[in-house]
Amino acid sequence: MARTNEGIIGRTLDRIGPRLLVRGAFLLYFVYVSVRLLMFRAWALGEGPFVSRPEAVAGLLPIGSYMSFFLWIKTGFFDPVIPAGIVIIIGAIATSILFKRGFCGWICPVGTVWEGAAWFGRKVLKRDNFRLPRRVDLTLRGARYVFAAILMVWLAAVSVQEAQWFQTLPYYATVDAKMLILFGAPIYLMVIGIAFVSMMLLGNVWCRYLCPLGGVYGACGVVSPCTVVRDADVCIECGKCAKVCHAAVPVDTLRSVRAPECDGCQDCVRVCPAEGALTARAFGRFRFPWWVWPLGVVALWLGIYFVALATGYWQTHLPVETFRQFMQMKGL
Ligand code: SF4
Ligand code: SF4
Repeated sequence: MARTNEGIIGRTLDRIGPRLLVRGAFLLYFVYVSVRLLMFRAWALGEGPFVSRPEAVAGLLPIGSYMSFFLWIKTGFFDPVIPAGIVIIIGAIATSILFKRGFCGWICPVGTVWEGAAWFGRKVLKRDNFRLPRRVDLTLRGARYVFAAILMVWLAAVSVQEAQWFQTLPYYATVDAKMLILFGAPIYLMVIGIAFVSMMLLGNVWCRYLCPLGGVYGACGVVSPCTVVRDADVCIECGKCAKVCHAAVPVDTLRSVRAPECDGCQDCVRVCPAEGALTARAFGRFRFPWWVWPLGVVALWLGIYFVALATGYWQTHLPVETFRQFMQMKGL
């Protein structure tokens, strides 16, 4: 990617590949906490030494966490079992509102894997990922937002009593480990393999059409003060920005990128050869270097995490022995 005006930080990041660096770090961390959860489970089942339970695995339970999130909104009651789930949702919504789906573009490990598959497909096939016909694309994108809205309304409508009851279930406290074990089963590995090949051919269709949370964060991002802005007077209409956009946004025809699919990846800004034609801006006016975008996403994310950690809203209040008893229950 050719950029000349972004200073030493921008040039250094350009060389390494900023998305690989940031997303790769979050993915590695997620793999690390997943392994620790499996080690914790092994301890609980008497099969290994004690390893503390990592709270960040709450990211594996978005549905249960959203139920707890809405319970918190309605009553102020903060889930004591897996509080990190609510903190992760707050972080995802905050980064999406301020940085246009910044969570999807720079943090989400699931999106990283599927984007990796799309990238791998381009390398192996030596061509761009296939794109679905426009009408199909629009229909599927629309269906995703409808599905996301229905899911959120349904989760918000869960009564206070039911949501609190759900938090007391041994299933709720242990389903994260169960899911990890399930992902290793042959049938799930087969599904993951098929999904990987599909993404190699069609690009990251999970984030574009299927992930309901991506729909939620896309809707949040519409109000973002940060956007990519194109100056038509400087643009040389080379079309490189639209070509590089993994979210298929027609950047080269827009004045300002408002599309909910944009996740602020900054690839279009970085690839633009015309100085000043495409820039990251706040409130459409205040220009800033592209690398401030991911820096802002990561800083906001870590800020929310550290505040939650310091105030006791990150760690579970369930004693470790209770987790152990739950995990030893038959069928869990
Ligand atoms: S390439 Fe540009 S328009 Fe496309 S998702 Fe990234 S920042 Fe948004
Ligand atoms: S990459 Fe830059 S110069 Fe080329 S079409 Fe996009 S905005 Fe215009």
